[in-house]
Amino acid sequence: MRRNETKICILGSTGSIGSNTLSVIDNLVLNGKELSVKYLSAGKNIHKLAEQIRKYSPEAVVIEDKIAFDEFRSEYFFEGLEVLLGKNELVKLASDGAYDLAVSSLTGFSGLEPTLAALSSGNNVALANKETLVSAGHLVNKIVSVTGSRVYPIDSEHSAILQCILGEEQNNIHKVVLTASGGPFLNSSIDEVRSTTVEMALSHPNWKMGRKITIDSATMMNKGLEVIEAKWLYDLSPNQIEVIIHPQSIVHSFVEFNDGSVKAQLGIPDMRIPIQFALTYPGRVVSDFPRINFREMSTLEFSQPDLEKFKCLSIAYEAMESAKSYPSVMNSSNEAAVNLFLEGRIGFMDIPKIIEIQLEKHVPEEIESAEQIIELDRRINEDVLKSFVLN
Ligand code: MN
Repeated sequence: MRRNETKICILGSTGSIGSNTLSVIDNLVLNGKELSVKYLSAGKNIHKLAEQIRKYSPEAVVIEDKIAFDEFRSEYFFEGLEVLLGKNELVKLASDGAYDLAVSSLTGFSGLEPTLAALSSGNNVALANKETLVSAGHLVNKIVSVTGSRVYPIDSEHSAILQCILGEEQNNIHKVVLTASGGPFLNSSIDEVRSTTVEMALSHPNWKMGRKITIDSATMMNKGLEVIEAKWLYDLSPNQIEVIIHPQSIVHSFVEFNDGSVKAQLGIPDMRIPIQFALTYPGRVVSDFPRINFREMSTLEFSQPDLEKFKCLSIAYEAMESAKSYPSVMNSSNEAAVNLFLEGRIGFMDIPKIIEIQLEKHVPEEIESAEQIIELDRRINEDVLKSFVLN
């Protein structure tokens, strides 16, 4: 093993961000960067995991699901590979100091503990799991200020902001404007949105992503989560963060400075670009990822989001302003509601309704620990299920 090699741990390697990260690693290695994959983790997708093991020869992998773990052990054998089971092992792996960068690409709330573990032990994290920042942003910043770990966003908007503020001073940032594609229902009427099916909500026009984030994009809760993510990443106040609809997803965000000057970062909607920037920050490496062709691009449009149709976006602003445990409650109730929607048990417009009910009855607490957020999440999930059964 070479001395300057960067050892990478991918928390959630078989999903969309995880697979794209591996293809970014291919590109970096092709261009002479010394990188290796030390750890991988999967939920259930053991066949994809096996393919990744064959290609990248990690030292250890974690499989979260017990049935999948047993199946993996009976079907595959890799010399010298440590195969671990379950969430606790994933947290342990994330907190060992034997790698240089963790890519946190787990889905939803399940990303919280491993991500905090990585940061707590002083590791840098390329963060795709925005739910960790939404639910525990205050905690993340506290941990990072002690350990000195760095968080590099793997989210196209936040990567755009990072690229725009490189070399700028914090107190010169007037505001940031996050762009949103508007998802599949940008031009649908409220009635159409009400009768949305799971399939319709899962067909995003510009981005290929996992199921949770695709539903979040359809409700625009994804943008709500990103507003809160931006607050924590860039130390912004709520009134410094705006959202604008941009259906082409070419401009990934704007930063407006005190003198009235505005910077934007543009690119084809391809997550490999922000992933690679998170891995090479503040430098850049050649790639053959698709390029913008300005001669073929006819229009870039911008418009105000419809907050009645996309209630989740205004809910997120309210939760952010109420602060304390409200964003955690919003995050957990959203995830519970999205799961119910994906299971076909509630309608699309029930998602914001469920979140609002939970926020209304919540008694705010100061968030001091991960355990507290986990307990809160457990309570919210239980309550969402209970109130859903009663209805
Ligand atoms: Mn995004």
